[in-house]
Amino acid sequence: MAAPTSPHSPHYPIDETHDPKLESWVESANDPGTDFPIQNLPLCMIAAPVEDEPDAMSVHPAVRIGDMVLVLDMLAHFEIVDGSADEWQWLFVEDLAEQGLTGRVRKIVQDLLKKDNATLRDHPDCDQIVVPVDEVSLGVPLMDLGDYTDFYASLYHATSVGSMFRPDNPLLPNYKHIPIGYHGRASSIVASGTDVRRPVGQQAPTEDGGAPSFGPCKLLDYELEMGVVVGRGNELGDTIPIGEAETHMLGLCLVNDWSARDLQKWEYQPLGPFLAKSFATTVSPYIVTMEALAPFRTPAFKRDAGDPSPLPYLTSEGNTSGGGFDITLEVYLSSEQMRSKKMEPVRISRGNFKDMYWTLAQMLTHHSSNGCNMQPGDLLASGTVSGKTKDSRGCLLELTWNGDAFASPPKLVPGTDRTPIDLPTGEQRKFLADGDEVIIKGYCEREGFRRIGFGECRGIITPARTI
Ligand code: MN
Repeated sequence: MAAPTSPHSPHYPIDETHDPKLESWVESANDPGTDFPIQNLPLCMIAAPVEDEPDAMSVHPAVRIGDMVLVLDMLAHFEIVDGSADEWQWLFVEDLAEQGLTGRVRKIVQDLLKKDNATLRDHPDCDQIVVPVDEVSLGVPLMDLGDYTDFYASLYHATSVGSMFRPDNPLLPNYKHIPIGYHGRASSIVASGTDVRRPVGQQAPTEDGGAPSFGPCKLLDYELEMGVVVGRGNELGDTIPIGEAETHMLGLCLVNDWSARDLQKWEYQPLGPFLAKSFATTVSPYIVTMEALAPFRTPAFKRDAGDPSPLPYLTSEGNTSGGGFDITLEVYLSSEQMRSKKMEPVRISRGNFKDMYWTLAQMLTHHSSNGCNMQPGDLLASGTVSGKTKDSRGCLLELTWNGDAFASPPKLVPGTDRTPIDLPTGEQRKFLADGDEVIIKGYCEREGFRRIGFGECRGIITPARTI
């Protein structure tokens, strides 16, 4: 097991639930390549047909294990665990605020799924409790996702994008002092697999003095992000101190913050993103809990010697030593033509969440620092996850260096170019075309521990509505 000096959260210790030797009687969970071994057990919401009621679906909280899901309220329904089915069905909505709940559920579920435990495995109704994931629909990962806020926490992303929009002044003077964010729109958060319609919107006048135009977005982009789902909130007027911020977190999911760059460029000043973002945000079906992530913590980003230290309300020993997460993040693209020719999606970037300048704890603490009440189920997304190198940039704007976004293209940063992405069909991309599918994947690996993953966050672009 890990040496005591390895980075960790003081609130989520490495314990016996992370033992890499643990195996499950769900055989697919023991496959070394699975995202969902018995050490992971992410939360999800499933919709399943209601018996004797055609067309009716009921929604249940579940835990993913291998290629199956364990339906939590069914455990209670068949009296395998204490409590009523109703209580378990609403477990992660009403009781989300209860500290330590996810850890207790993790221990109960893991114990029932262990290879040598026959209680559930040999139960006559096991097939109604543990069901193939292919037989259910997965939705957004929580019954009620609440408010949505999007941050801008990668210094590399902020510097790259800033150098396009403001070549002489790429990084604004506040960036290293304050986690920058904007209030997003929770109503347009969609489940992985939902089609995303190309938005229509207002675009800047041409440089020869024309009028602004209104039409389908021409520069449609994705943003690779991680999200944290709030478990416990704070009362209006109260704050969440940095040292306690992680106790307010349920877990992490993948987020694609679809972005219309031409709309964004015209509308963003002076109040920030608006319609360039609110047409859709896709989230993965799973919340990987803070408990499951314990072995994969890293120190917070190491700032350059010349950088300011964060103000005291954004500083704690635990955050500095273990506030980051080592999560490898990948983006894959597949065009309609590629799918019709049965070609595999191509990977277009790979980055790591540990490269973020601000930690999730700093974002949550900052968000509540004015007395804003965070609520269970709120989603805080990190902002585009980009690294130092070209292949670790988390959006097309950075990957193809904004080839067509400006009449006078911005200056190139050394080591970058405006090369479009080549697809195996001979097609090229600077921004997304109709029919393109974007697939985000994430996983954690560390020597001495079982690999765990986040599953996938997918969406296909469909044509704009006609005006
Ligand atoms: Mn974003």
